[in-house]
Amino acid sequence: MAREDYEIVIGLEVHAELSTKTKIFCSCKTEFGGEPNTHCCPVCMAMPGALPVLNEKVVEYAVKAGLATNCKISQDSKNDRKNYFYPDLPKSYQISQFDKPLCENGYIEIDLGEEKKKIRLTRIHIEEDAGKLNHDDYGRGSLVDLNRAGVPLIEIVSEPDIRSIEETDKYLKKLKSILEYIEVSDCKMQEGSLRADVNVSIRKKGDKEYGTRTEMKNMNSFKSISRALEYEIDRQIDVIENGGKIDQETLRWDEVSGRTFSMRDKEDAQDYRYFPDPDLVAIRLSDEYIESIKNNLPELPESRKNRYLSEYKLSEKEANTLTASKYLSDFFECGTKISKNPKAVCNWLMSDIAKVLNEKELEPDEIPFSPEDLAELIALIEKGTISSKIAKDVLDKMFENPEKPSKIIEDNGWVQISDENEIKAIVDKIVEANPQSVSDFKGGKEKALGFLVGQAMKETKGKANPQMLNQMFKDAILK
Ligand code: ADP
Ligand code: MG
Ligand code: ZN
Repeated sequence: MAREDYEIVIGLEVHAELSTKTKIFCSCKTEFGGEPNTHCCPVCMAMPGALPVLNEKVVEYAVKAGLATNCKISQDSKNDRKNYFYPDLPKSYQISQFDKPLCENGYIEIDLGEEKKKIRLTRIHIEEDAGKLNHDDYGRGSLVDLNRAGVPLIEIVSEPDIRSIEETDKYLKKLKSILEYIEVSDCKMQEGSLRADVNVSIRKKGDKEYGTRTEMKNMNSFKSISRALEYEIDRQIDVIENGGKIDQETLRWDEVSGRTFSMRDKEDAQDYRYFPDPDLVAIRLSDEYIESIKNNLPELPESRKNRYLSEYKLSEKEANTLTASKYLSDFFECGTKISKNPKAVCNWLMSDIAKVLNEKELEPDEIPFSPEDLAELIALIEKGTISSKIAKDVLDKMFENPEKPSKIIEDNGWVQISDENEIKAIVDKIVEANPQSVSDFKGGKEKALGFLVGQAMKETKGKANPQMLNQMFKDAILK
C-alpha cells in the first residue's frame, strides 16, 4: 500500500505549569530556576507527617482553562494518588486526579483554511509536578532538585481527533494562545512550562478501529514535535508495510539523531493503583463560584480576531497572525492607540519586525522596544522626517540598541532631505551626468525615471525625499 492509503491519528496530553505564586499543596514559591532545593519545605520534600493543603488559586486557574475551552466544570471533584517509583518523586506517588477531573468534554476549534475543525477535549485535571534530576553535575550519579516538586500543573487531554502534523501544530498553538490570554500559564516551552505527550497511530483509510499507538513523552518545541511525528509516522508505516505490528510503548524522541527510542512498555491505569488521597478533602464548587469565573474571563483569541476584522479592517491572515500571540496583539493594540494608523502598525509587525524576530529566533515578548517607539517611527515617516527606506535601518538599530527612533535618526544624520533647493541641486547634477537616461525618459521610457531617482538616492545615501525627486526630475526634463 502507498503512504496515502494510511490515515494518521493523533491525540495529545498537554501539561501546562500554572503561574500561581505558590505551589499546589504548600506555600513554597513556584519561580523557575534558583539554587537547587531552595524552594522546598517538608510538604514538597515528602517528610513523614507533613500534610498537603490545596491551593485555591490552582482550582480557579484550572476552572478558567476549562471554561475557555468549552468544558463542563465538575462541581464534585477530588485528588487521587498515582503511585509509581522514580527518584524525582519523593513521596513515591503523585497527587493527581483520576476519575473525577475538574473539567470534562470540551473542545478547541482550529482553522484549516476555509474550514474550522473542533478537536474534542476529554478532560482537564490538576496535578503536581515532579522534581528534576540533574545528570551532568555529578560524576557518579544524579542529583535531585526538588524546586519544581509540587509546582501546579494542568493536564489537558484531547480525544484522538487530530489527523495530521499540521493539525497538531495548529491545535497546540491555539491551546497555547488560549492559556496565555487567560493568564494561567506563561507557556514558556523552552523552560518546560508547556510540554506535550504526543500519541500517534496509523490505520488504513476507511478502517473503523484505531491502530495501536505509541506515545512520545515530554516534547517541548513545536519544531521537534513536527519532526518527531514525521519520523514516527514513517516508522510505523514501514513496520506495517513489512508485515510487522506496532508495539504499544512509550518512546523518547532524540533531537540529535532525529529518531525515537523505546523507553518502556506502556503502563495501564491499574499499574498506578490510583486511590483518593486521604490527606485532602473533596473539592466542591458552587454554581456561583463557577459563574463568577465565567463572567470574569478576558477576551479570548477568537473574539479578538473577529474584532480586528471589523474594528481595524485587517485581513483574515493579519488578524490570525497578530492574535495568535497575546503579547503581539497587545503590542499591536497599544501601538495603534498612539499612532491611530492600525494598518501601518500591523504592516510593521507582520513584515519587517516579524522578519527580524525570525532571523534572530526571538519570541514576540523579546522585542526590545515598546509600542510607543514603533508608533513614533511611523509618525516620523508620516511627517516626512525620514523615508520608509531609512525607517528600515532605524528599525535595525532599534533591535540592536533600543533607543528612541528620533534619537537614532539624529545620531546617524538620517533626517530626510526635503529642502527644495537642496533637491534641485541633486537633480541637476544627476541630469547632467546621465544624458542617455534623460533622453530615454524624454522618448517615453518610464523606467529611465526610476533609474535617475535611484541615482539621486545613491548620491544622498537614501535620504532624499522620493516623492519630491520624482516630481522635480519630471519638471527638469519634460518642461
Ligand atoms: P492513557 O490514560 O493510558 O494515557 P488514554 O486513553 O487516556 O490513555 O489516551 C491518552 C491519549 O492518547 C489521549 O490524548 C488520546 O486521544 C490518545 N489516543 C488514544 N488512543 C489513540 C490512538 N489509537 N491513536 C492515537 N492517539 C490515541
Ligand atoms: Mg497518558
Ligand atoms: Zn513546599
